[in-house]
Amino acid sequence: MRSMKMHRLGYRLRRWLLPSVLMPAAALALMAVLAGCTGDAPDDAGLTEEDRAALASLGYIEMDSGVREAVRAGEKKVLVMGIDGMDWVMTTRLMDEGKLPHFRQLAETGGFGPLLSSIPPQSPVAWSNFITGADPGGHGIFDFVHCDRATYMPYLSTSQVIPAPERAKLLGFIPMKNELALPFTDYVFPLVGGGTMNLRRGVAFWQVLEAAGVPCSIFKIPSNFPPVPSETGTTRSMSGMGTPDILGTYGTFSFYTTDPWPGSDGISGGYVYPVRVVNGVVDAKLYGPPNDFKDYEKIEERTGERVSYSGKKVALDFRVFVDPENPVAKVVIGDSEVILTEGDFSEWVEVDFEMVPAAVTVSGVVRFLLKSAHPEFELYVTPVQINAANQVLPITDPPEYGKELVEAVGHFYTQNMPEDTKALEHGVFGNEEFTKQSGIVFDERLKVFDYELSRFYEGLLYFYFGSLDQCSHAMWRCMDPSHPAYNAEEDAAFADYLEGLYVKFDVILGDVLSGLDENTTLILLSDHGFAPWYREFHLNRWLYDEGYLVLKSGMSPEQVEWLIGVDWGRTRAFGLGINGLYINTKGREADGIVEPGAEAQELIDEIAARLETLRDPKTDERMIVRAYKAAEVYHGPYKTTAPDIIMGYGWGYRGSDQTAGGQIPSSLVSDNTKKWSGDHCADYHHVPGVLFTNRAFSHREPSLYDMAPTILGEFGIGKREWMVGRSVFE
Ligand SMILES: [Zn+2]
Repeated sequence: MRSMKMHRLGYRLRRWLLPSVLMPAAALALMAVLAGCTGDAPDDAGLTEEDRAALASLGYIEMDSGVREAVRAGEKKVLVMGIDGMDWVMTTRLMDEGKLPHFRQLAETGGFGPLLSSIPPQSPVAWSNFITGADPGGHGIFDFVHCDRATYMPYLSTSQVIPAPERAKLLGFIPMKNELALPFTDYVFPLVGGGTMNLRRGVAFWQVLEAAGVPCSIFKIPSNFPPVPSETGTTRSMSGMGTPDILGTYGTFSFYTTDPWPGSDGISGGYVYPVRVVNGVVDAKLYGPPNDFKDYEKIEERTGERVSYSGKKVALDFRVFVDPENPVAKVVIGDSEVILTEGDFSEWVEVDFEMVPAAVTVSGVVRFLLKSAHPEFELYVTPVQINAANQVLPITDPPEYGKELVEAVGHFYTQNMPEDTKALEHGVFGNEEFTKQSGIVFDERLKVFDYELSRFYEGLLYFYFGSLDQCSHAMWRCMDPSHPAYNAEEDAAFADYLEGLYVKFDVILGDVLSGLDENTTLILLSDHGFAPWYREFHLNRWLYDEGYLVLKSGMSPEQVEWLIGVDWGRTRAFGLGINGLYINTKGREADGIVEPGAEAQELIDEIAARLETLRDPKTDERMIVRAYKAAEVYHGPYKTTAPDIIMGYGWGYRGSDQTAGGQIPSSLVSDNTKKWSGDHCADYHHVPGVLFTNRAFSHREPSLYDMAPTILGEFGIGKREWMVGRSVFE
């Protein structure tokens, strides 16, 4: 059972990270069919005593009565705009060039400066610093990917889907067969629901505000899936980065084509389905999650055939009528009919996957894009989004909040990071389609923002924009002809695309400023900036070449995946995640060999010092400018669970995807030729974010973890003992 689960997680990660992305998510599907059993995660599981004490102390927060009255009367409000990936250097340049008049106005009348990111400057880590006012030692998120010390297997760091039996164990139930088979059918009903668990530790600043009676709206903040439940019902939140699509993946598109290309059956992040047009009609299926309500053992026994993983997925038949001459088509799916014009995305269409006939359905929404009607037929369908109005997994708290938003603005993307960078990477999208799709994401987000602003009468509103981050990753190459991924023919026309996005935010800011009253504090910030990603560093290759990482006899480095094949009895250090390096420590890692204490410390010092001297054989540049020692840079109860060294890459460098997934490619460093051409997982000094406030601030070197005490301070609440920063206004 255990090894099954590990295998499954490993598989999920492999597909996500490397060429990456599909997570079969049988576990999640189990959840998905348990609507009603979700959301009430065992939220103190795994907490340290310190965290429990911090949470308990929240019951006693007394707000100054004057401030409380002001908050109630709407005379004290705080608006926080989180713009993921807004870069300090680029912002400053565009302001100097007169292209961002409203940002300039805000900088001149209020406060503006670079905002230091986290170590490492990855979004889940950075936003967790923001959320808790602690560094990773206080919230336990160190990387997108963490290492399970018991198995050396990687797992996604921010949230976990718990299959029913595992959850029963966590909750302390007596282990039992957790299924009830229905007689005469192929269906089984789990008796104990699965759950989802937010793995970020520590206390969110809005939990403190809530304890003090301040109403909060938290829209799409990263590292908050499932959303922290509100104790008093005064906080409304929607989960952001970390939120899956209906398959439990970070976004899996479907592409139906009469012209599949070699290798298209194994791409990451999407499925390519070959189809045929017969008399102007295409018949196809849209796949949902595996149907874990079915008793496959019983079916296999009866039919004598094994049911494959894909055979377990619930599917929805649909039909496309292609106009014989014009570039239009009609899709008929469920009860819906949609007319498609080549090149345009459809509106959202609700799709219901029937798990148990007339009893259990899972609801999602999709958009269609008819990429081509003739001569080849090409149809793109977005990843199936969790329907915010009918949630199979908890994405809003309370659930009615999602319903309310859909009523106000219509359906919208609910998955994390919805810009389809994978479709772009695989050529299913060109720059044109990608920018069109991310434009839809942007416009939808703006609609929700307008709605939230229109009813922002009291307390705190946090609102998150992710477009600039995803577009800077995917479109950086277009403005950088020196990038290995630059293709003049395709990219030159999009050279100004990112600049245009900054200008869009300037227009939004102009609207916000014109409606701002003097009682409202405005804080606009980003979690990190951006840098080009020219060269990929393969950390495990270096560790292997230098003898720190040893393989079992007969294994060649290129065969290694997920560190499988590593001889743990002779390995002293390994890399996993984008920035993490671990010492194989006795008593901590399953087969650790390095004695904790002096021996481990000596090894950490030795490796860190050597890494910092490494130069790129091609450019002679230093590839790692700082190798941070976790023990020196982190504070708080989770510090000991961190990787031992955090890689601070030089400008233009990043740890490779292969390193993140525990692979050992043949070279130490290689050109990054992917469309994913910009990044920020370098040394945090290279990628500062921005901080704008509508009042001057005095802090000379503000950092993300200063923002929670800043926000509390605005409501007259002192910083909490676990917070490592201070208010920027003090
Ligand atoms: Zn990013």
